[in-house]
Amino acid sequence: SFTLAIIGRPNVGKSTLFNRLAGQKLALVDDTPGVTRDRRVHDGKLYDLRFSVVDTAGLEEVGSETLEGRMRAQTEIAIAEADVILFMIDAKAGITPSDVTFGDLVRKSGKPVVLVANKSEARGAEAGMYDAYRLGLGEPCPISAEHGQGIPDLRDAIVAVLGEERAFGPDEEEEAEVEDGPVLSASETTLIGDDIEDPDADDIPAYDTSKPLRIAIVGRPNAGKSTLINTMVGEERLLTGPEAGITRDSISVDWEWKGRRIKLFDTAGLRRKSRIQQKLEKLSVSDALRAIRFAEVVIIVFDATIPFEKQDLQIVDLIIREGRAPVIAFNKWDLIENRQEVLAELREKTERLLPQVRGLRAVTISGEMGQGVDKLMDAVTLTHEIWNSRVSTGRLNRWLEGVLAHHPPPAVSGRRLKIKYMTQVKTRPPGFIVSCSRPDAMPQSYIRYLINGLRETFHMPGVPIRLSLRTSD
Ligand code: GDP
Repeated sequence: SFTLAIIGRPNVGKSTLFNRLAGQKLALVDDTPGVTRDRRVHDGKLYDLRFSVVDTAGLEEVGSETLEGRMRAQTEIAIAEADVILFMIDAKAGITPSDVTFGDLVRKSGKPVVLVANKSEARGAEAGMYDAYRLGLGEPCPISAEHGQGIPDLRDAIVAVLGEERAFGPDEEEEAEVEDGPVLSASETTLIGDDIEDPDADDIPAYDTSKPLRIAIVGRPNAGKSTLINTMVGEERLLTGPEAGITRDSISVDWEWKGRRIKLFDTAGLRRKSRIQQKLEKLSVSDALRAIRFAEVVIIVFDATIPFEKQDLQIVDLIIREGRAPVIAFNKWDLIENRQEVLAELREKTERLLPQVRGLRAVTISGEMGQGVDKLMDAVTLTHEIWNSRVSTGRLNRWLEGVLAHHPPPAVSGRRLKIKYMTQVKTRPPGFIVSCSRPDAMPQSYIRYLINGLRETFHMPGVPIRLSLRTSD
């Protein structure tokens, strides 16, 4: 077991994360700096990790003349006690001088550190995230402590800086108790009811075509990602980029399509172009995940000559679980001879092997020949629009009434399950809350039935739909 400290200037969200890790509402969280009191140590848990967590939030007493000094002292103590430091910044607010001061303390300690970019779900957080690189604390790990996003990645980042041995410790020998469970691989989480918090409506970004549309391009090595990106933005822009800058600065490329501003995020493709000889690329899930996180729409490039490899399916699954809008590009279509046949086969396989989301959009392209890019982009913008769509509570509940009249939920142990109402609480992707009598008893099959009904009735093919059940009271 190890000790973890959450360090950062006031109000970046330390207490919220602390509460998540400690699993209890221990700290009083409020928007005003200064509401928390003491430095506390508590047993913490993050999936399969067990540790002690130190919270330094206590130092923020308003009006104290020696605030700076005391915070600094407390922070230094916490750093000294810690085996690993989570240094938190507010990605929405960007890097402040105070972040730099605290960041310096952390860096000088030489302790393993994870740079945590909180509030990454907020509008404009991306800029703050890039800005965070200049702290010299490595790559920021984007999370939303409040909404629980990015937490699996945080776990991985902690293990990465601490090392497996340190993270799990030799004293872990005794049979690890199986509690409510290491939810280690994201594949164990379910699409249903995933992380819908009661959001505050202001949090939901409006669909805004003046903002660049963020697209990630992912796929197995050699599927043709780089070629596609080059075709889109023009070869020279990538190949003649400043050699040194390519790795970090070219995480995204700006582009324009039919007057619409686009930001393309690549996984390894862009980077590899700067070192062409280095053909050894393996699919790194964390790499793909990073690009996916940045994106609204994700284009998954399949090699049409060898489609539906296990990794292809894993990537699509990842995108869906992350709640992004997926579009499949069957690339290298120029190499396919019997196109009608192959297309029918691809369609059938898409439905059979990727049943998580009905109506996935798939487009055949040849990145190399520059064919199908417009078609692909049409699919992207349409999917993006659907991903942003909203159904009024009135329409939803009129539909629900009909459903309940004709196909009500079953009775479980002699009692009929009742559904009261439904409301869409978020977009990007569409998320709904169903208020019902016994959420735990509701069969998965009925939840699927509702999701499919919503998808059909309100025309939302090809995007993840979240449904969360709540007790009606
Ligand atoms: P990445 O690893 O996904 O970035 O793949 P690359 O863009 O480097 O492409 C891998 C290989 O596939 C290269 O040899 C490309 O020339 C080839 N390739 C990419 N797109 C196409 C395509 O549309 N048609 C054909 N025939 N080959 C392609």
